[in-house]
Parts: sequence; C-alpha cells; structure tokens
Amino acid sequence: MKYKIVNINDTGDRSVLIIYTGGTFGMIQDASGALAPFNFGKVVDRVPELRQLGIKLTVISFPKPIDSSNIGIQDWKDMAYIIEENYSQYDAFVILHGTDTMAYSASMLSYMLHGLNKPVIFTGAQMPIGSIRSDARENLITALEIAAAHHEGRPIVSEVCVYFNHLLLRGSRSQKLRSSTFAAFESENYPVLAEAGIEIEFNYSALKPHDPDAILEVKNKLDANVTILKIFPGITEHAVKGILSDPYIKGVVLESFGSGNTMKFDWFIECLSEAIESGKIILNVSQCIGGEVEQGRYETSKKLNDIGVLSGGDITTEAAITKMMFLLGSESKKDSIEEQLTYSLAGEMDLLPKE
Ligand code: ASP
Repeated sequence: MKYKIVNINDTGDRSVLIIYTGGTFGMIQDASGALAPFNFGKVVDRVPELRQLGIKLTVISFPKPIDSSNIGIQDWKDMAYIIEENYSQYDAFVILHGTDTMAYSASMLSYMLHGLNKPVIFTGAQMPIGSIRSDARENLITALEIAAAHHEGRPIVSEVCVYFNHLLLRGSRSQKLRSSTFAAFESENYPVLAEAGIEIEFNYSALKPHDPDAILEVKNKLDANVTILKIFPGITEHAVKGILSDPYIKGVVLESFGSGNTMKFDWFIECLSEAIESGKIILNVSQCIGGEVEQGRYETSKKLNDIGVLSGGDITTEAAITKMMFLLGSESKKDSIEEQLTYSLAGEMDLLPKE
C-alpha cells in the first residue's frame, strides 16, 4: 500500500508518528451534503499549533481515509504494520480514527502489538475539525501531549489507549456509549488512566507498568469467522439456530442478560450444546455495560457451565469479538484458545492467567 507521509515539525525531544485512518475528525461535506473523509494536509492548516507543541511530528495517512464503519481485518493489519515498521524511529504513536469502531480497533491492536512498551493512543472527534465547535483540536493536541509524556526517559503510557473528551482510557476496556455528546467513550469496568484538566493527571496505579526489556512482536494472523449472538426475550429457535449452525463460524460471543443469564428453555440449551459439540467456541459476555458474567449464580446460567460455554468475566463485547478473531487466527489448539479466552491477554478483563 502507498502511504502519504507528511513532516509537520522537526524539532523537539520526543517524536510522535500520527497515523491518519479517517473518521469524522477530518471529514467535509460532499456534494450531496453527506460527511466524507478528506486528506490530512488540510487538517494541519486547521491546527497550526501542531507546529508549536515542541514535539517532532510526522503523519502517515491511509491512501484513502475511511469512515471507521468500513474498518476491517486488513486495516488492523495495516495499522500494526505501520507501527512495526516505524517502531524504533518514534517514541509514540497517535492513531486518528473514526469513533464508531474505535473501541474495536483499540482492542484488536492491544492484542496484536505483543510486547508493546510505547504509547499507542487512538483519538478522533464527534465533529469535523472544520466546524467551529469541533472537539477535534482538543482531542488531537492532548492525545499528542499524553503520547509525548515521559519521566526519567521512559514513557508514562506504554499501552494501547483511547483518548477522548478529557479522558484517557485503556483501549481494550473502552466503549463508545454516546453518539451525540462529546463524552462519547467510557471504560465502565476499569479506572480512567488519566484525566486532562489544567494539568494531565495520570492514574499511575491503573496504567500498565513500563517494561524496558519488552520487545515488540506484531501478531497479525486474524480469523474473521466469528459472530455475536445477542439474545432478547422472545427470540425464536429459528433465529438462534440460523446463527449457531453456520458451518463457517468458529467462535460465537453470546451477549447474555445481567450477570450472564440466558433463557433455560430446552431448545436453547440444545442449540448451544450442539454448536459446542460441532467444535464452535462460545464466550458468554453481558449486555450490561458494567459488571461481569458469573455463570452459575442463577439457575438460568448454571446449565451454561455444564455444556461448556465459557465465561467472559467483565470483558466488553468489542474486546471479546476481537479477541476471538485474534486467538482463532494466532493459535491452532482449541484448548489453548479456550483457556486464553477466560483470562486477560492485554488488560481487557480482570482475571489474570494462573501462575
Ligand atoms: N462514522 C464516523 C466514523 O466512525 C463517526 C466518527 O468518526 O465519529 O468514521
């Protein structure tokens, strides 16, 4: 792929590579009035302060910036490839990305960038940079300041994060919860990593500790043969069977009620059980934004344990579905995939691997 590279500023003691993928951040209205992405060159004209931040800045732009609703597996591989190729030359990376699927991309990159010890900060905007009241300028400038923040030569952040509307969140815990206010993102099950007010206050105890000896290894084998089954009262056997009997599907994220409950009707349990017997992996996550799956707490989830549905604990749907694609692509043994789904790989859930 041919990337466009633009140097914005050559002076400063930290260097940040901005990876521009598209999103509302840099959109303008097309002839029909709909918002479509445009090139980054025009973005710099809108934020002249980028040259005064005291940070060495370079931008690599996707050849054709995209609305993040169109993001797919190849785009994640491209982002990871750009980071891998430029890892030794930059202190940090800021990825400009549409908000709609930012939490999926941040989750996926946190799995793919194994051994990461530099900041990778996703940000974007709810309103295009050309709008007078846009949130784009603040989000970009503060994301860059956080990316460049360091102490005794080490970065303060050394993980994949989302920065949005004054909050720095762990990428694999973030979710887009609102589409019409600037406060679009939250990480209900994990503390905020930093809050930007007059000062940027870092929450050191929640940040991943920096490992100076870590070596980046990009794991880019992904498998898209996964799906999400979101249950609801009244769902039919026909609908559930349609999803669970698809021969191409290898992994299913089951979005259940409350703390992991499902209907206990025989036909439903049989559908799940048959899918598991045919080799599919089913991971139970909650439809609730906060809290966790506790299989067996209620009668309505006890059966799930018996038939081999895995508990996703406090993982988000975004982190769960990307984790399935990642593990199905990178691991060949089913046992190992199942085991890794139930504990934390990149800080996406509370349960740590057994020592
Ligand atoms: N549809 C846009 C996108 O995700 C929305 C945004 O950027 O806020 O690319």
